[in-house]
Amino acid sequence: MSSEFYRLENVSVKYGDTYALQDVSCTIFSGERVAIVGPSGAGKSTLLGLLNGGIQATEGEVYVDLQQLSRFDETALQTHRSRVGFVYQHHNLVPTIRVIQNVMSARLGRFSLFEAIRRFVYSNAEEQEEVYNLLKRLGIEEKIFHFVEQLSGGQRQRVAIARALYQEPHTLLADEPVASLDPARARETLKLFSTIAKNDELTLCMSLHQVELAEGYIDRVIGIRDGKLVFDRLSSELQASELEELYTIQDLAICV
Ligand code: ADP
Repeated sequence: MSSEFYRLENVSVKYGDTYALQDVSCTIFSGERVAIVGPSGAGKSTLLGLLNGGIQATEGEVYVDLQQLSRFDETALQTHRSRVGFVYQHHNLVPTIRVIQNVMSARLGRFSLFEAIRRFVYSNAEEQEEVYNLLKRLGIEEKIFHFVEQLSGGQRQRVAIARALYQEPHTLLADEPVASLDPARARETLKLFSTIAKNDELTLCMSLHQVELAEGYIDRVIGIRDGKLVFDRLSSELQASELEELYTIQDLAICV
């Protein structure tokens, strides 16, 4: 049985008077593959931001490996964040530099300024081989010295995954990783995330719109809407009616 890795206890995140998340409690276990689903504006990205410590709870507490995140000092927070690979929806790569430099940028914070510059400008054979092997896992090793701006959207996403894995993470977060893909490519991408997480024993959390595309690739589904937790189910136990309700448009006022 896996151990608890993240726990949210009555967590709220407020922007001004608006709750992005309200009184959310849930637990994510080590090595679990979790989909966070809900309509736009539900609070999915906010939940991911809480897990990597990029967003702080306004109320309640986030625990990471049984430690209160709010008590982490700057160093502990940086250490935590350095072990959480985040694949952003728009990838956040630098298009005008090469794939290898984008990937290697993930570890630059670990080195002195001079060593970081050396790695960035003159990577050695061993460093190049490590990045090459990572890109090979993702099927884009031949792109290692290409500029990111020369790559397709799908290839860029794989570079973003390689950069996240280069952090040697314990957790992989992905914000809407299949938002702009057709169903076949979306399934392939979710399979890729799931396989990586399983092989590398990573905890995986992805925000998704269409959870049915992730069937077979996730262990649990957390549904949120208007900042509130609506359900938290093993994927095998999720009812179609629960999903339907999550996406039902309520209180729609049409003004003519
Ligand atoms: P989702 O990822 O499900 O689309 P988000 O977590 O991005 O939802 O946003 C949840 C709610 O919080 C939305 O109403 C959004 O407008 C609001 N929100 C998110 N970030 C900010 C911010 N930095 N400032 C103000 N409101 C925000």
